[in-house]
Amino acid sequence: MNMCGDSGWALSAPVVLTATVCIGVLLLARWVTRQRYFPGRESFIVLHLASLWWLIAASLEMSAQGANCKVFWATMAWPGILSVPTFWAVFLWQYVNSVRQPLPLNSTLGLIVAPVLIWLMALSNPWHGLFYGAGTAPLSDELGSPIRYQHGPLFYAAAAYVYLFMTFCMGVVLRAALVSHGVHRRHYLAFVFVTAVPWVANISYVVFGWMLFGFDPTPFSFAFTLLAFAWLIVGVRLFDLLPVARHLLLDALLDPVLVVDAQLRVIEANPAALKLASLRSGWQGRQLSDWPILGADLQQLLSRQSQDEQEQLLTLANSARYFEVRIRAIERVTHRGTLVLGQMLYLRDVTQRHLSELKLAEALALSEERLRTISSLHEQLQEQALCDPLTGLYNRRYLDEFFARELALAQREQSPMSLALIDLDHFKLLNDEHGHLEGDDVLKGVAQHLLENLRSSDAVFRIGGEEFLLILPRADAHEARQRLETICRDLAAHPLPTRGGARYVTLSAGLALWPEQGLALDELLQAADAALYRAKHEGRNRVCSLA
Ligand code: GH3
Ligand code: MG
Ligand code: MG
Repeated sequence: MNMCGDSGWALSAPVVLTATVCIGVLLLARWVTRQRYFPGRESFIVLHLASLWWLIAASLEMSAQGANCKVFWATMAWPGILSVPTFWAVFLWQYVNSVRQPLPLNSTLGLIVAPVLIWLMALSNPWHGLFYGAGTAPLSDELGSPIRYQHGPLFYAAAAYVYLFMTFCMGVVLRAALVSHGVHRRHYLAFVFVTAVPWVANISYVVFGWMLFGFDPTPFSFAFTLLAFAWLIVGVRLFDLLPVARHLLLDALLDPVLVVDAQLRVIEANPAALKLASLRSGWQGRQLSDWPILGADLQQLLSRQSQDEQEQLLTLANSARYFEVRIRAIERVTHRGTLVLGQMLYLRDVTQRHLSELKLAEALALSEERLRTISSLHEQLQEQALCDPLTGLYNRRYLDEFFARELALAQREQSPMSLALIDLDHFKLLNDEHGHLEGDDVLKGVAQHLLENLRSSDAVFRIGGEEFLLILPRADAHEARQRLETICRDLAAHPLPTRGGARYVTLSAGLALWPEQGLALDELLQAADAALYRAKHEGRNRVCSLA
């Protein structure tokens, strides 16, 4: 500082300009601290503080009048000069790769070592003269004249160090611009441009000795950088739209998302994934197989996954929740082919849907079972409605339907059909002698006897108390008579078992023939009834017909 003891100070237009840029940089850094998080935010702030340092040192060098004082402030600018490209590189790397964790302390200290050493070398220049040579002197004898620096080997070493970082910066943004598309590409091209301007300004100074206001133009180019950033931030919503939107989307997603690297280590997990695993911190780099709850299943899933099945939907089931897992490879196309960097696992919670499906299937099975029960009950009911409860024979209700069907068949086949009306003989007497219950037993026995003597196409109906009707399709008068006589004879010959003992019973039958004795059921029944009357009249236990 004693170098500036006798130096006067002057306020020139370039100094005012630099001071204005200083204020702009300060405001920008302050504004960024209050913004929502974006990748590389800390580095972005440090980068602006470093450029502020450089600008302050530059304005002091310009406003100082004494030559020694000017050189002193030029030396003091070096921490800023070196930190700007360093943290610009860190920022771009974090921003382009969406690295959300701040730079670890060790790395930050490591990055500061070289700037501090170079600064010390610049400060110790009066002893070794290797940074600025002996030819370093004011351009003219005028007071406050700018200094022309003679650059020594250490200066070029420092410049090489700076260029190393600037090259890295250009590489990072150029690659990002190349591999992205549309809005993203324009976004990264803006970065390329912003990076290129100070880079060009510096090269033109170091290599070609081009100066602005008799000074290194690099810090002035920050005025442009500042304007460019202001435009990018306000006009294109640089920090809060494109990159942040992606992370916000990931954060807001209710479905868990995990990103694993090629070694199946988890490198990214959204809040939903962390919540599911009950993890808060220290999870980065954890092996997927060690990831709580779903890790082992996911690992297995990935090992089964072949390259062309990446869009396949898979279902994972743990005890309580169900997930569909979509796997997407994260690839980079290089000149040597496609390089798989890692994989993104998108888990969709389908528990509700799955449980609803299970419930629906259950309800469906239940309703099918109920439907079966209802149909079977309906069949039973229908049968009960058509059958006589005592004998189990068809009752009158089924007669019309059966007759209509057989009539149609007989007409079609032109075959005969016989009807026989049967009435038990002296049944009232049997009831009177042995009781009604024994009478019922006899009725059951007769029904059984009739059924045993029927063919499959025949049908027997109980149409009254002890009256039965037989319909014998395809049986002509002769056959019908023979079969009825057999039935009549056999019944008379064999006693029927009842609760009171074996009882003998006989029957009388009247035959009617379709179509000879009637075409409709009523006509046939009338003819059969008349024949039955004749049978009773002729002495019972016999078969009669009017033909
Ligand atoms: P017939 O030889 O002239 O036919 O003399 P019958 O005594 O059989 O006279 P009828 O046919 O008129 O008598 C019908 C009797 O059948 C009257 C009733 O006591 C009896 N009966 C009707 N339905 C039932 C029944 O469901 N159970 C019992 N046990 N008897 C019945
Ligand atoms: Mg009767
Ligand atoms: Mg009778």
